[in-house]
Amino acid sequence: MKAPAKSSGSSSPAVSIPKGDTRHGHGPEAHAAKGFDLFGLLAEHDHEQVSLYADRSTGYRGIIAIHSTVLGPALGGTRFWNYASDEEALIDSLRLARGMTYKAAVAGLNLGGGKSVIIGDNHTTRREALFRAHGRHVESLKGRYITAEDVGTNTADMEYIKAETNHVTGLIGKSGDPSPVTAYGVYRGMKACARYRYGADSLAGKHVALQGCGSVGYHLAKLLHAEGASVTCTDIDPKRVKRVVEEVGAQAVGPDEIYDVRADVFAPCALGAVINDDTVGRLPVEIVAGAANNQLAEDRHGELLEQREITYAPDYVINGGGLINVNAELHGWAPERARSKAGEIYDTLLRVFEIAREEGIPSFKAADRLAEQRIAAIAKVRRNFV
Ligand code: NAD
Repeated sequence: MKAPAKSSGSSSPAVSIPKGDTRHGHGPEAHAAKGFDLFGLLAEHDHEQVSLYADRSTGYRGIIAIHSTVLGPALGGTRFWNYASDEEALIDSLRLARGMTYKAAVAGLNLGGGKSVIIGDNHTTRREALFRAHGRHVESLKGRYITAEDVGTNTADMEYIKAETNHVTGLIGKSGDPSPVTAYGVYRGMKACARYRYGADSLAGKHVALQGCGSVGYHLAKLLHAEGASVTCTDIDPKRVKRVVEEVGAQAVGPDEIYDVRADVFAPCALGAVINDDTVGRLPVEIVAGAANNQLAEDRHGELLEQREITYAPDYVINGGGLINVNAELHGWAPERARSKAGEIYDTLLRVFEIAREEGIPSFKAADRLAEQRIAAIAKVRRNFV
């Protein structure tokens, strides 16, 4: 299997497939050129199932892609997007579902990977009937797929889904904002990188260049400050920069300057595809460790980081705290248990680096290896007759 893909992106109805989707070279254009082969697409990455449902009364058109249920029910959010074609929507759902399988596998969760998309304008105000139609679609799969929020959907939409099915998470008043748990997982992951790189995991005295002072970036900055690290930060929103500058004494730089800040760690906590042709040769750091999804514009940028001897924490390993938080809601875990599980990202990353060293492969490929090993091992156990 190849590496997974992004699990969320930015929301703009004008764009069909978010930036940074070129990593796997099997985008819609490739398939359009070859002709549309539905079962070929499913076979390409071992997807188990795709469900399509159209509801004439509401105009609902939805796709649920289930990549794998080997480890447990397939979990992944609902993306509401104005796709240019049905084929694009299908490919996006397949790609995102597969990414969820890998993310859950390395997080040590008993969840598989799935994703759903609703095709249409996500600014619509006629949401109740639409999301209840989606809820019925989810319910038809009888728990093989569990949904949550994603680009273009919100907690109120999840409540409409809940009216039709119990297989939904991210409800109002439940697990709440995942960002503190995600930030804690990133912090623990950064410590693992330090341990691997410097032989000790303390971040005291280290300098972190933080891109993005949003929900995760802010909490991460506070954890770093508490440990005695210094922070240089940027954001396109001056208010968010100001908060981090004032609360942790960070230095601020412009959005493009962050790639040239001489530091120990670069922490991308804003957008995907920030490790690209323009930036990969800059970054005067030894470690890249941050929360953003799909940090590598293409696989070759991961190879280039490796060539520059930069320790890269694969994004879907280090940012697994958000999914752990959703899992906590599903299983009624206390917040401390979710935090403690996110803390295990430390050991997972050390294992990833060990596989990378043993097999002489970049860390982003080693992460895929680790996920695939767990899925294969559990698949074997579950074939036993007892
Ligand atoms: P957020 O929207 O709260 O924060 C993102 C910040 O990045 C914003 O303050 C925004 O102004 C800033 N930003 C946007 N473009 C920028 C640019 N060019 N330069 C600098 N800053 C820029 O989002 P978040 O919840 O903090 O998530 C951050 C990243 O982590 C996202 O990529 C998200 O997909 C990923 N992630 C988040 C979670 C979570 O629990 N929130 C979990 C997993 C992954």
